[in-house]
Amino acid sequence: MILLNGKELSDKLYQSLNEIKDKMRYKLIILTIGNDEASKVYVRNKIKSCEKVGISCQHILLNESISEHEFELYIKNLIKTHFENSIRFDNGGIILQLPAPKHLVETFNKIIPPCFDVDGFGNLNKEYLMTNKKPYHYPATPKGVMTLLENYNIPIEGKHVVIIGRSDIVGKPLAQMMLNKNATVTICHSKTENLETITKTADILISAIGKPKFINETHIKDNVTIVDVGINRTENGLCGDVDFENVKDKCYAITPVPGGVGPMTVYSLIENTMQICH
Ligand code: NDP
Repeated sequence: MILLNGKELSDKLYQSLNEIKDKMRYKLIILTIGNDEASKVYVRNKIKSCEKVGISCQHILLNESISEHEFELYIKNLIKTHFENSIRFDNGGIILQLPAPKHLVETFNKIIPPCFDVDGFGNLNKEYLMTNKKPYHYPATPKGVMTLLENYNIPIEGKHVVIIGRSDIVGKPLAQMMLNKNATVTICHSKTENLETITKTADILISAIGKPKFINETHIKDNVTIVDVGINRTENGLCGDVDFENVKDKCYAITPVPGGVGPMTVYSLIENTMQICH
């Protein structure tokens, strides 16, 4: 069984970002709205990763009472100050850490220019991906999954990829990216009937549902590659959607949780931030 070690791979890939000389040209701005506890951990990890490669990172906490109009003006002003009119920082972008109030997420996605949308969730980048134009930035988690599989030489073309979960940030963009690599893709969700029958036909099974140890040996065929996107907090610590110990001997390759997709997601965000595209 091959362990798809996202921690080890991302550590190696950060080295190549470290070779980029002019670090002062890149900046990541992270906006959070409200006080979600899990977000604090994710934001800390993103700040640490920026420090790892020597780029600037600014975390801004906004009050939940901010109106859509104020938020829109705030974002536009941020872009002007930090990127468009700035001499020092002229590359990078802004992300809105989720969860955030739905109406503000919609506003952000509507107005963020695609080149500063380093999370790749903005309406334009989404549209480019879905209509087969090249987005300025691919969403971080699906991009991290693709990078992980590519670096471990897991073939995708012609394979049956089953994705459980159809969210806008994981399942849907990942399905499109898999299609672009000529996979045959099935997307499952909470209303899918006979889930096990479908997942058993997967050459690559990707779970992004947020249910601890939901996937077990009854869901898979021998020699499947499993990518576990799920991050679940339980009494016994973090675990994925997949019962790792139960399935590992049947797998060709599998990601651990933690240490699989999570570090690849953060790496992809940093890579997007350091990608000059405007
Ligand atoms: P969402 O809650 O937005 O989506 C969950 C999806 O799972 C939905 O499409 C839902 O179906 C489906 N689902 C839920 N229960 C079942 C079930 N019993 N059978 C089949 N499908 C089911 O979650 P996200 O996409 O935002 O995140 C999913 C998981 O991935 C979470 O654990 C999250 O923490 C983790 N995550 C990890 C990241 C990483 O970097 N590793 C990054 C982002 C997320 P329906 O649409 O019908 O409701």
